Amino acid sequence: MTAPQPALSVVVPMFNEEAVLPLFAVRLRGVLDGLGEAYEVVAVDDGSTDATGAALAALRVGWPELRVLRLRRNSGHQVALHAGLLRARGAYVVSIDADLQDPPEVIVELLCRARADGVDVVYAVRADRSRDTRFKRWSAGGYYRLVRRLVGEQVPAQAGDFRLLGRAAVEALRELPERSPVLRLVVPWLGFPSAEVTYERQERAAGRTKYPLSRMAGLAAESVTSFSAAPLRVATWLGLVGVAVCGVLVVAALLAWFAGATVTGWPSLYVAILFLGAVQLLCLGLLGEYVARIYTAVQGRPAYLVAGDSAAAGPAHPDPAELADSLR
Ligand code: UDP
Ligand code: MG
Repeated sequence: MTAPQPALSVVVPMFNEEAVLPLFAVRLRGVLDGLGEAYEVVAVDDGSTDATGAALAALRVGWPELRVLRLRRNSGHQVALHAGLLRARGAYVVSIDADLQDPPEVIVELLCRARADGVDVVYAVRADRSRDTRFKRWSAGGYYRLVRRLVGEQVPAQAGDFRLLGRAAVEALRELPERSPVLRLVVPWLGFPSAEVTYERQERAAGRTKYPLSRMAGLAAESVTSFSAAPLRVATWLGLVGVAVCGVLVVAALLAWFAGATVTGWPSLYVAILFLGAVQLLCLGLLGEYVARIYTAVQGRPAYLVAGDSAAAGPAHPDPAELADSLR
């Protein structure tokens, strides 16, 4: 039995968001009830270990539009978002963070813009980052410059994962064989007509960030290696530079030999060995990054396992269809 298609799905990944969830739910519900259209909220509980799961269950009692998708373990923001997107049933699907940094009121603007312009993708672009720390602004600036060079100018600068997708774009995402795509790059890469809506990013309303520096670095590395083989070519260039430096050292050594000063040559030897060793290690490391990607792809392990979906009125165990979907 499939439920009738709602006009709008709102996908919200959540990991240990007990502090902000009550505030978020009230604001989101106010906005969505005001739309006057059928909607569903797909809350993806990304393996929370606090009271998020219980709070969602309690909210569901008085809010039939809330659907809870529970992942077995913490799988990360991008993976949780992907899981929710693939299961959302709406004609339009908006993804939004649970911490109220993305104001739910902007969802209305996204929807109006999609309908008015007839586009499949509407990005919510941050107008002003003055509330972010200087480091966050600097690192985000570098990240967007880099990915725009790698993927193309269609990647909007300063657009995170707050966006609207039309059904066609969601279906195109579903067709991709990638298990955990970097959505903010893959969506522009799909090439659907798009529009932008600017908004002011707010402070996190409660709770703490779940994106420590290590995860940000991980996302940046994933963004680069999933879209470009350029770093592998860096290895080639470094190898060439190494050969050139060695050539110079050989000439210097020969000159020293003619001058009869060869015994004192050990520093140059030492430098050459260290330098070549470093270049080789670096190249091996780069190769390793890509081999690791191939390994993960070949291994074919799903990026997440669904522990339950409140919309599928049935057993809490993943049914075979769900499992097959998460294995895609
Ligand atoms: N999140 C998630 N799984 C994770 C980490 C984060 O689902 O492993 C969710 C989190 O609950 C929030 C959103 O992703 O709704 C963005 O995370 P956060 O606000 O902590 O990141 P920041 O805005 O600080 O970059
Ligand atoms: Mg946040």
